Amino acid sequence: MTNHLDILLDMLSALPDPVFVLTESGRYAALIGGKDRQHYHDGAHLVDFSLYDVLPKAKADWFLEQIKITLEQNQLRIVEYGLAGADVDGLDTQQGPEGEIWFEGRVQPLATPVNNERAVVWVACNITRRHQLEAKLQLLSETDELTGAYNRRKLLDALTLSLASFRERQTPVAVVLMDVDHFKTINDRFGHIAGDEVLRGIAHHAMAHLREGDLFARFGGEEFALLLPNTALDVANVIAERLRQAIASGNFLPESHPPLVVTASMGLSLIQPQDQAIETILRRVDNALYRAKNSGRNCLVVDG
Ligand code: GH3
Ligand code: MG
Ligand code: MG
Repeated sequence: MTNHLDILLDMLSALPDPVFVLTESGRYAALIGGKDRQHYHDGAHLVDFSLYDVLPKAKADWFLEQIKITLEQNQLRIVEYGLAGADVDGLDTQQGPEGEIWFEGRVQPLATPVNNERAVVWVACNITRRHQLEAKLQLLSETDELTGAYNRRKLLDALTLSLASFRERQTPVAVVLMDVDHFKTINDRFGHIAGDEVLRGIAHHAMAHLREGDLFARFGGEEFALLLPNTALDVANVIAERLRQAIASGNFLPESHPPLVVTASMGLSLIQPQDQAIETILRRVDNALYRAKNSGRNCLVVDG
């Protein structure tokens, strides 16, 4: 007759994902399961050590924080985190997945104290593939396919966040709309593929010359937008004007015979204290752009 305890022990040790018992002070009290070296490293040596003995301090702080919150809330808590084998002292990195692994941690308070401490059960599930797929989908959902710039959706999301932070902190935020001049003529004379090349050339140049935190997006067709956080009007003016001149100089455009002359018109405005919605900001910038078109194109008009 099979011994039920044997089955139980065998079953626990065969659990596909590693299951840690972690105490309130951050000590590894036990580890079972997670034997598959394609998915997990061998963490057997961790038992009886503290998170602070084996992890960088910032990571150990984060784990301890999750343990404390779980114990406080006294319910299942699900967290996601990245951790590489190399982050954990003493781990045999020859066996186990390479690079950063993404985990879903399912953290459950234990009813019984462990070594006189409250403790949690922490099930660590390798979700690296899912995480990579999510990151890829996220990137696709906010990128314009033709130019690699951000798309309209991302720009509108970022503008919404910028408006909220402007209303909190009043740091200046500049918004630029840019429309390529007589683009229809470029398509008509040189073909749609050359037109695409022009859009790509403009986007690549703009993206290569942005500062960290600036956002360049294809707003639609031959229209682009620039969102410049923490940027006063005079600086935004210089940035937009530099881009306008770079486009007009045509240095980065595809070679063609006869040489392509491409220019763009721009409207610029700051977020204003009375702005309640992003539509108001966009309308103002669009008006400025419209005035630039009516002033002979290839120029920048500032509103506010
Ligand atoms: P304006 O100076 O007034 O802006 O004139 P325009 O010719 O640029 O303006 P219009 O809006 O009449 O034409 C925009 C053109 O952009 C029409 C459309 O076929 C073209 N276009 C939009 N998207 C793309 C694209 O992805 N690739 C190419 N090659 N052309 C595009
Ligand atoms: Mg247009
Ligand atoms: Mg145009």
